[in-house]
Amino acid sequence: MIAKKTLKLSLKSLKDFGKKRLPDEVLIDLDAKDECPLEIVRHMCSPDKLGIQLLFVPEEYGGMGGGAFDVYVICEEMARIGLGLATSVLATFLGSDPITVGATPEQKKIWLSRIADEGILFAYGATEPDAGSDLGALQTTAERVMDGERIVGYKINGSKQWISNGGIADAYTILANTPAGPSWFIVEKGAKGFNHDEPEDKHGIRLSNTAALALSDVYVDADRLVGGVEGQGLNQAQAVFGYTRLMVAAFGLGAGWAALDRAIPYSTKRIQAGAPLSEKQGYTHKLIVPNVARLEAGRAFIEETAERIDAGAEGSLNTEGAIAKYMSTEAGNLAADASIQALGGYGYTHEYLVEKISRDVRITTIYEGTSEIMEMTISRDRWQLHLKTRGQHYHEQARQCEALHARHPEVGAGTAALAFHALAEVMERSRAARLTRHQHILLRLGELIAFAESAGCLAHRAARMAEGKLHEKANQRFDAAGLAAISRVFAREAALKAGQDGLRWVVGAGGVSDAEVAAFESSLGLPAIHRAQAGLIADMDFVADVLYNRGAAKKVASAA
Ligand SMILES: Cc1cc2nc3c(=O)[nH]c(=O)nc-3n(C[C@H](O)[C@H](O)[C@H](O)COP(=O)(O)OP(=O)(O)OC[C@H]3O[C@@H](n4cnc5c(N)ncnc54)[C@H](O)[C@@H]3O)c2cc1C
Repeated sequence: MIAKKTLKLSLKSLKDFGKKRLPDEVLIDLDAKDECPLEIVRHMCSPDKLGIQLLFVPEEYGGMGGGAFDVYVICEEMARIGLGLATSVLATFLGSDPITVGATPEQKKIWLSRIADEGILFAYGATEPDAGSDLGALQTTAERVMDGERIVGYKINGSKQWISNGGIADAYTILANTPAGPSWFIVEKGAKGFNHDEPEDKHGIRLSNTAALALSDVYVDADRLVGGVEGQGLNQAQAVFGYTRLMVAAFGLGAGWAALDRAIPYSTKRIQAGAPLSEKQGYTHKLIVPNVARLEAGRAFIEETAERIDAGAEGSLNTEGAIAKYMSTEAGNLAADASIQALGGYGYTHEYLVEKISRDVRITTIYEGTSEIMEMTISRDRWQLHLKTRGQHYHEQARQCEALHARHPEVGAGTAALAFHALAEVMERSRAARLTRHQHILLRLGELIAFAESAGCLAHRAARMAEGKLHEKANQRFDAAGLAAISRVFAREAALKAGQDGLRWVVGAGGVSDAEVAAFESSLGLPAIHRAQAGLIADMDFVADVLYNRGAAKKVASAA
């Protein structure tokens, strides 16, 4: 982990760099030309220039040894500048991941030091034309090359699809099947038989180079097998999902906020029907406020997960990384789309950039595991907890929220508790009626779980804020009153989703008979969930006031 002061300096350099080298007109031009600005990517990753990659590399190999929290903060800022360039930096991080996690000390010394000292760019070659979400279906092979009994090298054959930095990297980690199973290999650019295609013509992140790779009898020495043991590849890829998904989560968050931070000031200047749009409740409460609430729910989950990773939490926190990614990237997409609407016809043109952000952020629900795979990951893991605790897992989470509500009635924890109770009942009914045999139900449970857990997490974050106990590097955009109101808005949405969508899917899958529906409705606590919607509009008014620094919120801010 790096010192708060150092992180602040890095953040400032990054912001200054973005302002100076990547103003709107440059971004628009590069996007139109569909061009990856290699010189800028190299500048960002050069140790004697911006040196962002140093953050990811452990100190012993010449880096700064940034922790998960540091990486989240920087990734959010990179995404605010431009997701295409952020993806290029991410690719070096992903590409070096199998090395950080699984390489031998000698391999780490060579490759991680080269990233730190020379700023070499990496690419991460996992996906194939016929192996995307299901990486186990990969067909690239690494055939042993023997000298008598000794393995001296490997011959790699196959192809890789959609590889970020595919056409510009200096080194690649390539996943290939050895006789003992999938394994990572380090292949350098220019190796005989190793080629890349022209860059893809993409919907968004057009500043990022994405290319297919072809490997035809590419020979590598045995010391290019990461970790020196065959068959570890999928475990090595899994081991860092908690971390890498957090990075993409931060991308969703940064891009979503970048769009809203264009829509919010725009709406103060755009006069329609005699007043600025920012004063129209039907505008702010549809296009701005709910998106802020969802983004901040995502942030709460990212920060909590980052803190746990940095504190050395047991396990890889894969599920937590999946919830953070799912919530933040879905929220980022909704926020960017709403920002186009918020700018009306201007939003639909290139000049105002929100449409570029919207195209760019679209990738975040696809790469590093699609949203549907996230739903499955979340649901499967929490299903096990439900079974192990005989259905008590989420009732227990609810009780914790009720205790929080007793201490902090203002943070929406009571409503988050209602979401957890409803979720526990939906899961129990799904178990009793064996509803998860329907894949759709399993995945929808993943969505409800992510919403309920995020509501609990945001309420805890708001309470910590009120107590002045947030992480020292935590985002401080909102004060305690603002964050509490945002939390209350989100908790209502989460509770309604858990109760009503839960009811819908259970009844829809035949989990209760006609005669049982009324009893099931009351077991979900739907009347209480409906009553908890009281005060929603007043809270949304307050959040809008906070965002526009006016009215009651302004008075609170100036009193503080
Ligand atoms: C711009 C870009 C950059 C990328 N960069 C990299 C990179 O650097 N390195 C790399 O290795 N890969 C990279 N990828 C690949 C990316 O990770 C994959 O596209 C992603 O994992 C999805 O795989 P797929 O495209 O094969 O889609 P598929 O797996 O075929 O999925 C298609 C759809 O089906 C759904 N689906 C899949 N399986 C299931 C299931 N079991 N049940 C229900 N629904 C399912 C998915 O959610 C999705 O909606 C990149 C992709 C893009 C577009």
